[in-house]
Amino acid sequence: MLLSITNEKKPATDLGYLLHKNPLRCQEIGISFGKAYVFYPEATDDRCTASLLLDIDPIGMVRGKVGSINSGPLDQYVNDRPYVASSFLSVAIAKVFGSAMQGKCTNRPDLVDTALPLKVQLSVLPCRGGKEFLKQLFEPLGYQVKAKSYALDSSFKEWGNSVYYTVELKKVSTLKDVLTHLYVLIPVLDNNKHYYVGEAELENLLAKGDGWLSEHPQKEIIARRYLKHRVSLARQALTRLMDINHAGVEQTMTASDNLEVALEIPLSLNEQRIKAVLSKISDSGAKTVLDLGCGEGKLLRDLIEDKSIEKITGMDVSIRSLEIAHKRIGLDRLPSRIKNKISLFHGSLMYKDKRFAGFDAAIVMEVVEHLDPPRLAAFEKVLFKHAKPKTIILTTPNREYNAMWENLPEGAMRHSDHRFEWTRDEFREWAGTLADQYNYLTAYYTIGPESSSFGSPMQMGVFKRAD
Ligand code: SAH
Repeated sequence: MLLSITNEKKPATDLGYLLHKNPLRCQEIGISFGKAYVFYPEATDDRCTASLLLDIDPIGMVRGKVGSINSGPLDQYVNDRPYVASSFLSVAIAKVFGSAMQGKCTNRPDLVDTALPLKVQLSVLPCRGGKEFLKQLFEPLGYQVKAKSYALDSSFKEWGNSVYYTVELKKVSTLKDVLTHLYVLIPVLDNNKHYYVGEAELENLLAKGDGWLSEHPQKEIIARRYLKHRVSLARQALTRLMDINHAGVEQTMTASDNLEVALEIPLSLNEQRIKAVLSKISDSGAKTVLDLGCGEGKLLRDLIEDKSIEKITGMDVSIRSLEIAHKRIGLDRLPSRIKNKISLFHGSLMYKDKRFAGFDAAIVMEVVEHLDPPRLAAFEKVLFKHAKPKTIILTTPNREYNAMWENLPEGAMRHSDHRFEWTRDEFREWAGTLADQYNYLTAYYTIGPESSSFGSPMQMGVFKRAD
């Protein structure tokens, strides 16, 4: 298996400094599953190519019981592992080019952050998902991708092509980024790993994915394949990646946050919303309450005051918000009698989660409009099909009322992170269909001052489980 990296920026041999490998020497490096060799087929001022040749020891592989891709007995001896780019190559990259991947270069630190015109060639890369998938992985990261495929057997054209490709990737980039992308995405394309995947691998993915993975359009499948389809790990990865995005949104959002606050102050809408939700909780007689997307805990504080509630749980995808909620309710200072009934946890409304089940009531206050419409269906199942609390109280803006706010430009939403805002009819149609599907009864309420043409600023749906 051969990986080559070419630099064409003069003096091209700077590549040697970055890789910590002298272009004049061929080096042999021992790895647990074989040997790696680094050499430079060309090293001139104009062009310099470093090659990593991986020589996997197939007998050692069987003895060490690593690398078997299927479970058949013959498969131990006859498989493609020694000849293709796979997780073995990622391990070799980390071992042989570890300092370069971490961005360390003692002799020429200036090179670490220099973007170089780099070309990567992989002699054989299994692309499970084909060339299209290969492109979907690398093109969003700015690579030009070329791939040559091979027939399974040239005598039997009708068998079609194999999963193997010779791949060329080009990008003007720092070397550390290119090595990191290869490290993560090669096993993703191969859809396999030769070692046990646990929590440490999740941390590894998040560390290696820092700065690019959270924005990658294929992040879900990357996480799933990288974590060897361990569903709970992949879900944690996604939740944390989403959290990264959210933190970004939160940081850049202050101006529009102020807009929302400014719109609401004269009406003190926030307080009215909390009051409306608390009164519905009290009517429901709920003793255990889950606040989904609790944010900074505005509602939790008031729920604590309600002596009839025995258990209050807040959940949010944003760790930062949960930390603020923790402080805001002064969790550490509360007497243990009260403290014991409150808990906060990190999660996502997009994924089925046992921790959401068994509550009398769930509150979803000003949260749905933050979810991407294509993913609403996932949320609906998580809450109505799996968690299915007896009562669900959900509030969301009424878009029609936006016309009443002079300082809100026409057509604009109240908050830059809102993915949509529903009219009264749209909300009722959505809620009614859901209620029918999952056997709930609905009632609708207004929150805030009512205009005869546009209704109230907020709308609230209360769902009661019919059984
Ligand atoms: N309910 C709170 C916060 C509303 S802001 C209140 O009314 O004050 C919306 C909240 O939804 C944010 O805290 C955001 O982090 C959270 N959120 C967005 N997407 C989420 C998801 N997929 N899972 C859980 N929480 C989410």
